[in-house]
Amino acid sequence: MRESAHIVIVGAGAAGLMAAIAAARTAPADVRVLDGARTLGAKILIAGGGRCNVTHDEVDETAFAGSTHPAIRKVLRRFGVRETVAFFDEIGVALKREETGKLFPVTDDARTVLNALLGEARERGVTIAHPRRVQVIERTGGQFRIGGDWGDVTAPRVIIATGGMSIPKSGSDGFGYSLARALGHSTTAFMTPGLVPLTLPRDHFLCALSGVAVPATLELRSGTGKRLVAFTDSTLLTHFGLSGPSVLDISRYYLHAVHDDTRATLHANWLPGASPDRLDDGLQSLGGRAVLAWLRERLPERLARSLCEHAHVDAAMRGDQLKRESRRALVDAVTALPLPVTGSRGYNFAEVTAGGVPLAELHLDTMESRVCPGLYLCGEICDVDGRIGGFNFQWAWSSGYVAGVSAARLPA
Ligand SMILES: Cc1cc2nc3c(=O)[nH]c(=O)nc-3n(C[C@H](O)[C@H](O)[C@H](O)COP(=O)(O)OP(=O)(O)OC[C@H]3O[C@@H](n4cnc5c(N)ncnc54)[C@H](O)[C@@H]3O)c2cc1C
Repeated sequence: MRESAHIVIVGAGAAGLMAAIAAARTAPADVRVLDGARTLGAKILIAGGGRCNVTHDEVDETAFAGSTHPAIRKVLRRFGVRETVAFFDEIGVALKREETGKLFPVTDDARTVLNALLGEARERGVTIAHPRRVQVIERTGGQFRIGGDWGDVTAPRVIIATGGMSIPKSGSDGFGYSLARALGHSTTAFMTPGLVPLTLPRDHFLCALSGVAVPATLELRSGTGKRLVAFTDSTLLTHFGLSGPSVLDISRYYLHAVHDDTRATLHANWLPGASPDRLDDGLQSLGGRAVLAWLRERLPERLARSLCEHAHVDAAMRGDQLKRESRRALVDAVTALPLPVTGSRGYNFAEVTAGGVPLAELHLDTMESRVCPGLYLCGEICDVDGRIGGFNFQWAWSSGYVAGVSAARLPA
């Protein structure tokens, strides 16, 4: 006999678990969560280096990209940081704020977060079945049939919370997009990895500086030289190119910009806050001091030497012997070094997917589909991706909460 439930949630990640708990708390209903993974919560467990950066002290729509800011704001404000902190407190996870504004469990252990979510879901009577990979969702009449090689289940409401495509071996391999498309949704024409390291040509001088980490401002410029976006944070040089928070944050903007405008470029200022003029003044007032002696007080010595070399400036040269063109070249290398990015490390190394189902296809007060009544979407499957710092989980909690409450409010 075919199984049935009131609400079936596909995906037991952050968004799916939040949706399940919110639904079960809202109304007594048979809530069934199906997940294809053998072990649950892979992303929660690896997040934040195993500590799970649950959210950020200050979250607003400007930390996100993809769909429009007003659309994202509508969902975030329904279940914001305050509600998230209170929710986790209720389920036994106290959060602490770090200097950067990131919130982590006081245990510094992601397992605390996963266990509390699973415990609360089970206590509320939610059934979590896995491994149960969903291969098909069909709508006939007022019911959905959700099936896989394990059998099928019918329900009047379905919430798709299958995540994106990053780290596909975690179970989030992008198949959820096909499920949504089969029910009438579209996905953005262009999707890229987001929060992903970027690659440089292997013989680029920065690749030889693998291991150097330095604060830098990365700036994305259009083909006409217009500043589009910039991020200042730690930048890590690696054997393949660039990583670290500033690079991860700007990666999706860069990958989307070059898709539309092949002349878009990324530039690095290795002395954040230093303008070319100020640096030029500094170099001019060096007198008899060597350029390198001055630069290495501000930058790691390996980087300082390489930037001099790149600018064809003898690092040992006294400041007062520097010719104007050499000074200019060095100022450019230090404050606006062009980064000839060749691509990204791809979904296996990305934290999120930039792209997905546009929010315009959902009723944002409920997360219900505009094209398929009874279907709800939440989490990373939506065309919403945030900066590093807990923003992506906040999107999962907010959108999962709205979807779960709304699906449960309708009579079964
Ligand atoms: C290395 C790494 C570190 C991160 N660190 C942080 C962090 O510290 N803070 C932060 O805010 N964000 C972080 N993120 C991003 C965050 O993990 C995601 O944004 C978030 O997990 C998305 O939640 P989700 O529930 O939408 O999707 P997911 O967590 O991907 O969950 C989707 C679930 O659906 C299941 N599924 C997929 N397809 C099917 C199917 N066909 N049938 C059944 N089940 C299916 C999957 O098995 C999975 O369990 C990190 C990501 C990575 C990769």
